[in-house]
Amino acid sequence: MSLFATRKIRLIMHLRRLGVADMKVLEAIERVPREVFVPAAMQDQAYEDMALPIGRGQTISQPFVVATMTERLELSDRDKVLEIGTGSGYQTCVLAQLCRRVYSIERHRPLLVQAEQMFNDLRLRNITTIAGDGMKGWKAQAPFDKIICTAAARGKPPQELLDQLKIGGIMVIPVALDGKQVLRRYKKEGEDTFALKDIMPVRFVPLLPDIAPDQVPETENTDEFMQTAMV
Ligand code: SAH
Repeated sequence: MSLFATRKIRLIMHLRRLGVADMKVLEAIERVPREVFVPAAMQDQAYEDMALPIGRGQTISQPFVVATMTERLELSDRDKVLEIGTGSGYQTCVLAQLCRRVYSIERHRPLLVQAEQMFNDLRLRNITTIAGDGMKGWKAQAPFDKIICTAAARGKPPQELLDQLKIGGIMVIPVALDGKQVLRRYKKEGEDTFALKDIMPVRFVPLLPDIAPDQVPETENTDEFMQTAMV
């Protein structure tokens, strides 16, 4: 058995111990090779339960956070899912195993180009991406059964995202409140009514407006949020 396969099994057991119970989610994580999404110099840590840098001041989320967010979306193979923050594309690939189609938006075009290469290499055909400001959602494709945002919103989710969720749909998003972040689940019960549930404290990079210029300094996010997406 390869070194990665052994480590992957250890990670899955670790996620089960932490309370991830949905076997379909664990199988999806088992199927997606996380080592190809992390920088070559960090492949050794690909199956550690930690966030890792992916360039442009961004991070690939910690596997436990990816598993928990995915589990809380309660995905079905008929779901149309919107993802904000493609990043490395790792979370996108996990989602793509479990739903009909993922629409994913990333504001850093160079990250998106790399992620798209991965989707091709892994022969995942149910992912559609766009470079843009995910705070505005994806109106032409709305409404969505589920929405996942992998960058932290200030105070509450952008209104457009709430609007683009189907009634009965679920959104999972980190929200920054008083300098702390909490992973929150919004279930849309009516046109303007949502049931809220706090899942756990998290640390994500911030949700930022507009598309990023192609040449941005690596220091873009060195503010209070410049931490890794870890619990
Ligand atoms: N899910 C990713 C995690 C990426 S980190 C992974 O598995 O690798 C969060 C990402 O959100 C970053 O790439 C950041 O550029 C992106 N982001 C932040 N604000 C955004 C916005 N308004 N629209 C689209 N992407 C955004």
